[in-house]
Amino acid sequence: MKNNKYKYILKSKTQKFFEEGYQRKFLPINRSINSFPVINSNSKKIKIWCTNDYLNMSHNQEVIDESTKILKQVGTGSGGTRNISGNSPYHESLEKKIASFHNTEKSIIFSSAYTANQTSLWTLCKAFEKLCVFSDKLNHASLIQGIKNSGVECKIFDHNNLEHLESLLRKTNEEIPKLIVFESLYSMNGTIVEVNKYVELAKKYNAMTYLDEVHAVGLYGNKGSGLANYFGVSDQIDLINGTFAKGFGQIGGYVVGKTYLIDYLKTFAPGFIFTTSMMPSTAGAISKSISIVEQEDEKRKYIQEMSNYLKNLLRINKIPFIENNSHIIPIMIFDAMLVKKYSQILLNDFGLYIQPVFYPTVAKNRARLRLTITPKHNIDDIHELIYALKKIISPKDSLISTKKQFDYSI
Ligand code: PLP
Repeated sequence: MKNNKYKYILKSKTQKFFEEGYQRKFLPINRSINSFPVINSNSKKIKIWCTNDYLNMSHNQEVIDESTKILKQVGTGSGGTRNISGNSPYHESLEKKIASFHNTEKSIIFSSAYTANQTSLWTLCKAFEKLCVFSDKLNHASLIQGIKNSGVECKIFDHNNLEHLESLLRKTNEEIPKLIVFESLYSMNGTIVEVNKYVELAKKYNAMTYLDEVHAVGLYGNKGSGLANYFGVSDQIDLINGTFAKGFGQIGGYVVGKTYLIDYLKTFAPGFIFTTSMMPSTAGAISKSISIVEQEDEKRKYIQEMSNYLKNLLRINKIPFIENNSHIIPIMIFDAMLVKKYSQILLNDFGLYIQPVFYPTVAKNRARLRLTITPKHNIDDIHELIYALKKIISPKDSLISTKKQFDYSI
């Protein structure tokens, strides 16, 4: 192929995507420990309503002190992969800590939960000659990527539809090994799934289970240990995945489970073996953060109360959002161009930052504003937000009123 042909193909693909309205713009954010949720962006003060630092742990002073202490002692980078001089006591104690947090036997840590999902699923699927995966339609990109890369058969069930899942399981040959892949809290619509019912089905059809708890960890279950714990089945899920980047406010991801499963991943997962381990100060900071998060029942309660308060005001003001029992509040706008416009008006005219969510993060024509509340947001912040939303999102808006019957399954 001629040199300019490469450029033409890549440029035209990008251009076409942009022309369809799906270009992403990343707002520069300068966060401050003292003023959050008010932050600086392009020399302007704005208030953030879309952080995944759910418990504000990235600003916790004890965690910062721990991180700084280790940083000063051992330096920044870890120096290698876990296999090649990059294994420190901080990594090892973090693995023990997160395994015991989930009340499981063992854990494996990664540089992100994305990597954890992608490489763990790929590695697990490859272990069996013929495996069939059952994957929820709304599963995260990292789960999909791990399954797809492995090339195994994959049957997709309608979002959180146990009947559909069971019908697919029933139709699959008994002898074929099976793996059900799902999330406990779907981040774009805030659905909490009944994890125990998936476990029942898995037992009935002799399937393994892989559960992504990325958005639940730190916020639900005993001491924030997740929804599998809340539904009383954390010891019955084969592998649980989580992140250190949201509820714990740091960076990195992990998978926990029985020793034989984790040993298998530690031995064969390329995304674990062939990459530099996280900074020791990060590993130390995460361990500290986990210990603190375990004690934060008051904050967990506050987040739920504030979310309910906000949802109620949305209802009163007839602003359409997806009803759920979680702290994630998606306001449906549907159209990508419109959601971008609303987000821009909120930013320019009201100093509020809610990132527009559109394809491919969600399906086409399912664009939304996704709100999250942290312990640092208060009642006045909520009233200010509602005032702004009321000004820009009218229930009479033609686009919204034509979508009376929301279909969130895609
Ligand atoms: N799983 C789900 C459901 C997610 O939403 C995300 C990211 O938002 C990830 C995994 C990846 O997490 P991380 O940011 O730690 O890579």
